[in-house]
Order: sequence, then structure tokens, then C-alpha cells
Amino acid sequence: GIRGLSSRGAALRLEGVDDIIAVASGKGGVGKSTTAVNLAVALAKRCGLKVGLLDADIYGPSIPTMMKIHEKPEVTEDKKMVPIESYGVKCMSMGLLVEKDAPIIWRGPMVMSALEKLTRGVDWGNLDILVVDMPPGTGDAQISMSQRLQLSGALIVSTPQDVALIDVRRGVRMFSKVDVPILGIVENMSYFRCHHCHQDSFIFGKGGAHKTADDMGLNFIGEIPLEGKIRECSDEGVPIVISSPDSAVSEAYTDVALKV
Ligand code: ADP
Repeated sequence: GIRGLSSRGAALRLEGVDDIIAVASGKGGVGKSTTAVNLAVALAKRCGLKVGLLDADIYGPSIPTMMKIHEKPEVTEDKKMVPIESYGVKCMSMGLLVEKDAPIIWRGPMVMSALEKLTRGVDWGNLDILVVDMPPGTGDAQISMSQRLQLSGALIVSTPQDVALIDVRRGVRMFSKVDVPILGIVENMSYFRCHHCHQDSFIFGKGGAHKTADDMGLNFIGEIPLEGKIRECSDEGVPIVISSPDSAVSEAYTDVALKV
């Protein structure tokens, strides 16, 4: 586990927060936010930790929908925003601060100030772990986020598909440039188990993320199947770890949480 690993000097700590882990992906749409949500809830509900979830995907914040939170955060006397608690997790997202459906078209400096507001401008209280749903890709926002926050480590989410795995390599290199340890790779949408014949189909290819992890000397953390229920639960705002705690999928997410 990474707990207690945050020791890098340059970046600033968030007071009261023991460890910050980034959930990242080289590409959009691979299930980074879904993984971040279920990981955070599993850490809180299954591992009994005090957990925060920061939606740093400021261009496409999806945490409010996935965690069913819509209220505007209150502000404390010292002008800090109070995170909204859902399923035992303290959440903060740009999606709570802007009008729904409003396009978020920010340029560099505004991105930085938004990220500042979402991190140091929040009254996180005491947390064992803060899970950060990073913006997809390896651009300015990701780099400055990684430099500003004292990340204990990064978890990389990918599908087994080659094009996604090429971007995983880019992501891994970016984190190593800023001295953030890679906790490992989670393979999402690894296979689809037919509800009728119970056979597995490898829709995005088979074993790709495992091989990439091996090639790069990284931990392979686990695989999450492609499962309609995961998507339905996200859209309804009740993570599958909550709605079907005994399912194989929930077990898979809990396994990821235990390895982190
Ligand atoms: P990202 O954060 O990488 O852009 P999301 O977590 O938003 O990706 O997921 C993209 C879409 O895929 C969403 O509609 C989500 O509900 C769906 N999804 C993610 N993981 C799975 C999965 N394992 N099975 C089925 N649907 C999934």
C-alpha cells in the first residue's frame, strides 16, 4: 500500500490529509471517473477509511452525477468550501460550482486557479485518503496538478485496447517526470460476460494492460469487466459498490481498494 508514502518536498501538503492518490488515464472515456468513484466508496465503506473525492476533471466533471450530489457547497468563515458528503465520501467538483450544461472553456491560468480553489480552497477536514479524479491526458492541467499536490501515487486506468495503452505509457512517463510513484494499472472493460451463455468476450482485446504493466515494471492492480450495470449505476448516481455490494464487480473494486 501507499499509505504514508507522501514525502516529496516541493509540492504542498493539504493539511489534515494523510495521502492523496490520483486516478489517471492517458485517454478519455476509459472509465477513469467510474473507477475513482467506486474506489473511493470502497475505501470508505469496505476499508473503513476517512475518504475524500476530488473531481479534478474540470472540463467534464462527472462526479456530481455519479455520486448524486447537486447542492452548492457552503462556505466557512475562513472562506473555504465545505465538501458535500455522499456514501460516506466527502466530494468536491467544479460541476457543483458552475451551471449545469454550461460549457467549461478555460484557458491555462484559469485552469490553475480552478484547481487551486478545488484543493486548498476546500475544508477537507481530516482524511486518511483523498482520491483525485484527474483530467484525462498528459497536458498542463495534469502536470501542474501533479506538481502542486503532494501525490502519494497515481493509479492508471486503461482499457485493454492498443490505442489506450499507448497513452498509458505517456501518462506513466509524465508522472515519473514529476516524481510521482505509479501504484499500478487497473484494466477496465477487460471482458464482457454474457448474461445468457456466461461466456466471456474480450471486446477491447485480451491481456493488453497486464502485458503493458509487465513491460514497464509496474503492478497490475486488477481487472474490471465491461458490465451494463456499472454504467446504469453511474448514471443513476448510486455506485455499484453501494447498489450491489455482493456482486463480483464490487468485489473487484474492493480488491483494487485493498491493493491501494
Ligand atoms: P473517463 O472518466 O475515463 O472519461 P467514465 O468513467 O466517465 O470514463 O466512463 C465512460 C463511460 O463508460 C461512462 O458512460 C461509464 O458509465 C461507462 N463505463 C465505465 N466503466 C465501465 C464498465 N466497466 N462497464 C460498463 N460501462 C462502463
